[in-house]
Amino acid sequence: MNRLAGKAALVTGAGRGIGAAIALAFAREGAAVVLAELDLDMAQRTAAQIEAQTGARVLAVQTDVTQSASVQQAVSEGERAFGGLDIFVNNAGINVFCDPLTMTDDDWRRCFAVDLDGVWNGCRAALPGMVERGAGSIVNIASTHAFKIIPGCFPYPVAKHGVIGLTRALGIEYAPHNVRVNAIAPGYIETQLTHDWWNAQPDPAAAKQATLDLQPMKRIGRPEEVAMTAVFLASDEAPFINASCITVDGGRSVLYHD
Ligand code: NDP
Repeated sequence: MNRLAGKAALVTGAGRGIGAAIALAFAREGAAVVLAELDLDMAQRTAAQIEAQTGARVLAVQTDVTQSASVQQAVSEGERAFGGLDIFVNNAGINVFCDPLTMTDDDWRRCFAVDLDGVWNGCRAALPGMVERGAGSIVNIASTHAFKIIPGCFPYPVAKHGVIGLTRALGIEYAPHNVRVNAIAPGYIETQLTHDWWNAQPDPAAAKQATLDLQPMKRIGRPEEVAMTAVFLASDEAPFINASCITVDGGRSVLYHD
């Protein structure tokens, strides 16, 4: 407890799923947290729950990560409420799974607007304050799709590969300023996103079972298991971890044969 005491954090897409779990874990560890989320009602509900559970200072701000001005506004509101932001988590993301040649231009742009531009917009808004204060930790939520390919999931993995590239490039650029930039690559984690994908399959129950059967641990992950890693990377327990990516997938991406 109190591993993030005195720190302020912003988490994008924090209304539900992995982002909400990260916001809760940060609040439990003593951080003040900004929930920057597209759906303000959802963000406010989640913020109220986190506040009730932890007593932490929590702020919900309507934010569209595809719009740099919107992310900048969320950072400004966070800074006004809590002082400078010590931690910034680029979590918001969407699945865009297409066949490359039948994919529309709109699908391509939608994917990159959220999954890569959104991460850059977050980094660009967070970095100046961190550089000015001489400290900061940015955590980008990538995916095992950032280094593994599943046919039919295009162009999501292309954007997630970009998130790793962005993490590595910015980690090196800002290391002299004591700002660390790292990524987490989750495997299957049970959230709305995974349920939506199963429900889009012809037989959702069979699709879920097939997913479970592929897992070395015979289960998929929980959002709080990603959140634990985010706490570690954001905290002073990881002072020399930079430009890195930690995989949280129960070993799935190491398995050669299904
Ligand atoms: P969810 O869909 O459950 O949550 C994503 C959240 O991001 C939603 O609240 C959504 O809001 C919000 N969001 C979407 N677009 C924007 C936007 N433009 N601006 C601000 N917020 C936005 O997803 P997960 O929690 O599962 O995923 C979180 C991250 O983890 C993503 O980056 C995803 O790619 C990554 N990931 C997830 C895995 C999994 O198995 N779940 C595996 C690997 C990576 P709204 O509902 O209003 O659109």
